[in-house]
Amino acid sequence: MINQRQLFLQHVGQTSPAPLLIEIERAQGIYFYDTSGKKYIDLVSGVSVSNLGHNNPAVVAAVKAQVDKYMHLMVYGEFIQSPQVLLAKELSAVLPPHLNCTYFVNSGSEANEGALKLAKRFTGRPNIVAFKNAYHGSTMGSLSVMGGEYFKQAFRPLVPGVRFIDFNDETQLDAIDHSVGCVIVEPVQGEAGIICPRDNFLGKLRQKCSEAGALLVFDEVQTGFGRTGSLFAMDTFGIYPDIVTFAKGLGGGMPVGAFVSSKEIMDSFISNPVLGHITTFGGHPVCCAAALASLQELRNNQDIIPHVNSKGDLFKTKLKHKNIRSTRGCGLFIAVDLAEPSLVVKFVAKGAEMGLITDPFLFNESCIRIAPPLNITKNEIDEACGLILDVMDNI
Ligand code: PMP
Repeated sequence: MINQRQLFLQHVGQTSPAPLLIEIERAQGIYFYDTSGKKYIDLVSGVSVSNLGHNNPAVVAAVKAQVDKYMHLMVYGEFIQSPQVLLAKELSAVLPPHLNCTYFVNSGSEANEGALKLAKRFTGRPNIVAFKNAYHGSTMGSLSVMGGEYFKQAFRPLVPGVRFIDFNDETQLDAIDHSVGCVIVEPVQGEAGIICPRDNFLGKLRQKCSEAGALLVFDEVQTGFGRTGSLFAMDTFGIYPDIVTFAKGLGGGMPVGAFVSSKEIMDSFISNPVLGHITTFGGHPVCCAAALASLQELRNNQDIIPHVNSKGDLFKTKLKHKNIRSTRGCGLFIAVDLAEPSLVVKFVAKGAEMGLITDPFLFNESCIRIAPPLNITKNEIDEACGLILDVMDNI
């Protein structure tokens, strides 16, 4: 009889010539288990999604309670649905006062699409500044501001008017002139291999945007919800954008994205044209209920975010090996730089074989990603680092 693996390869759209092909049975905390009962330590968290671990009880309870009340009713923005309203209110409570109006979507790409459209509509300006090695998503607009040629070339023509500059290079900020509607930036570059801002680069970027009248858009899709040691990376660096985008960790494991701005800016979607951005499933009530439970847990449980930096440091201290050149990052958003690029593929494959899930980056060929659930315990970090070093010994 044809098995699930064959069916997966035959009938589920493929994007990689060598998928890991682990057949998942269940997941809990930092672990998941395949159908043979083999246990894996998940150091990727579904790419910075499961910040509270897999199957977090508070999130699961919120999902079940909402499913019993109602699921989809009507496209976003027509009916008053309590999970959306409460989540938008909670987001306003944890964001600076000017980021007080949330538009819910389904994913990070879509959040960035919405943010770019909003900035164009509000400023009436045609151009966008983005960064080399930036990742913002896979749809046409998000792809257009992605800073890596390899992933874009086959899909041209893309959105015109995008200028790319180097992250952390203030000498290039002159590209931000009065024709620029917005600058989109990850406050910590993720897929570039965890590049943190240096020498108040974000502050200088903020200042330049304000001078030029360009809106500053922070893509916090991967950095948001505790990953860098504060609830948001903008808090870690004390620099605030005009629009911020979220997804991944927002939903606690359910698919939801958002872009947040001021009420004044957001209201530009009401006119000229009306329905400036619309979505059928964006802000799905079950996803918003999950997101609210997740955000409340991250806010109220003092055992999580306040410990993210020390846990990140523990990884960095323990990960010493001849195959490791260095570790870097902020919070639990870590890149491990290996001695040779060829070790990356070997490490990820051997890791999976030995029960360890890590991931390469799109724009960095020598690093592997460590982004575990934020509530990983110190004992689990010991276990994970022991296994990482074991895998290193075996590649
Ligand atoms: N922005 C950033 C910074 C991301 O890391 C990602 C996903 N890796 C996205 C946007 C796109 O999110 P999604 O896959 O949900 O569309």
